[in-house]
Amino acid sequence: MKKFVSVLLVIALCMAGCGRDSSSASVYAAVEDNYRNYYEIFVYSFYDSDGDGIGDLKGVEEKLDYVADLGCNGIWLMPVCPSTTYHKYDVTDYMSIDPEYGTMQDFESLIKAAHDKHINIIVDMVINHSSSKHPWFIEATDYLRGLNVGEEPDSAICPYVDYYHFSKEKKDNTWYQIDGTEYYYEGSFWSEMPDLNLSDQRLMNEIKDIMSFWMDKGVDGFRMDAPLHYEETDTKFNTSVLNELYEHCKTVNPDIYMVSEVWASEQSIEEYYDSNTPSMFDFTFAQAEGDIIKTTRGNEKAERFVSRMVEYEDGRSKRNPTYINAPFITNHDMPRVSNVLNGKTDKMKMSAALLLSMTGSPFIYYGEELGMSSSGTKDENKRLPMYWSDKDAAGMCKGPVDADEGITQKCEPADIQCEDETSLYNLYKRALCIRNANPAIARGKSVILDELTRDNIAVISRTWDEKTIYIIYNTSKEGVEVGLKDATEDFSGLSVIGTVSAYGTESALNEGIVNVPGYSVTYLGR
Ligand code: CA
Repeated sequence: MKKFVSVLLVIALCMAGCGRDSSSASVYAAVEDNYRNYYEIFVYSFYDSDGDGIGDLKGVEEKLDYVADLGCNGIWLMPVCPSTTYHKYDVTDYMSIDPEYGTMQDFESLIKAAHDKHINIIVDMVINHSSSKHPWFIEATDYLRGLNVGEEPDSAICPYVDYYHFSKEKKDNTWYQIDGTEYYYEGSFWSEMPDLNLSDQRLMNEIKDIMSFWMDKGVDGFRMDAPLHYEETDTKFNTSVLNELYEHCKTVNPDIYMVSEVWASEQSIEEYYDSNTPSMFDFTFAQAEGDIIKTTRGNEKAERFVSRMVEYEDGRSKRNPTYINAPFITNHDMPRVSNVLNGKTDKMKMSAALLLSMTGSPFIYYGEELGMSSSGTKDENKRLPMYWSDKDAAGMCKGPVDADEGITQKCEPADIQCEDETSLYNLYKRALCIRNANPAIARGKSVILDELTRDNIAVISRTWDEKTIYIIYNTSKEGVEVGLKDATEDFSGLSVIGTVSAYGTESALNEGIVNVPGYSVTYLGR
């Protein structure tokens, strides 16, 4: 993946611009490749351009500057195809735009505007299942209903009977009977999401056509939904599907990106890298039980965090040398960070600092940079309207119909936080700016400096393109001194190139001693 499309002029602004007075920081990364800072957008709840209360593609286009200013140069659009549900993970037509979100023209316009701002767009590819209202499923079930007694289905007459898992046997409670027939179908997520049969080559060819269609529209990659469930527990088959689709995509666009949702154990995620596709979401570092939150809470020390991080990097590289890690803290299926950390802003800042110090392409769920809340475990409550303003401002969405009423956001809205240098938003922005200005952070190889790493203090080097930077973690609330002279490494000529600190103070390096503030990540470079 270390193949550069172009090298941009950045940086003039950037070093000065990543400090605490960074209002005019450069937003472009120094290198444009598939290492990106992604912003995950649930279109429905993001920005409403036409006043019907539902977010839409034009709304996303209107807010591209917000995404770019934050320092993100990639967007993951949750599903935009026609669907029967508000979340749109049950697709009825893989080559159209849901009218709630706008038109194909709006989509094309969004892609063009995003590319003009050096933002890549990846779209959700939901192929574990379709909607029960997809024409394939309707035709297949109509055909099965029309069979005479004793007549077996013939895929030469109706190919769609091979597109799904049909059986006369109800294999378990995720199999549902088709009215008026003796047949059942598999719907592992929901009765209205029949599982597709990806071992059928005609279906695979249709999916390749669908992916080509979106690449032709200009998308830069795909977020693969639920490959763990393509065939339950069949890792070998599932990785072969991912590989086949990725190889197809590369024939259309050699720079195409793919990131997959394998919500499973660390071991299992590692096995999916055998697909030779670039990225698996890093679920082991995410969620309340993951390493980022555990470290923030003090249940894990910085020392442990970096050792886990390096172990993870090494394990993945062995599986796929060109892998790109895809760390995140939470997504649309999880309680928000604010809830996990009881709304403590300093802790949210520490979590963000840890996330944005990791290699690969970090993913930020919309509103995470504000500290937005979810409520309970109900999915709709994890996908509430983007909190642009506490006034009745333009673009505010009504949110999912079945979200609980009366949930109020406790954080300050975007319009306030953008103006407040001490806000969580500005901490994300600062960390992303430092990341964009220093390509080694995302792309380098990490080595722990054992002599300087103990308990809540950890120091690593990260080397890329013959340049080495150093990262100092302090996961305690107290400021400390780190004596570089205690290590054998050559530290000559270093200076502080960035501080991401929950309490706002900058790190300082004097005569081999680095003063680092509490809850901080400090970057040193030459
Ligand atoms: Ca709208």
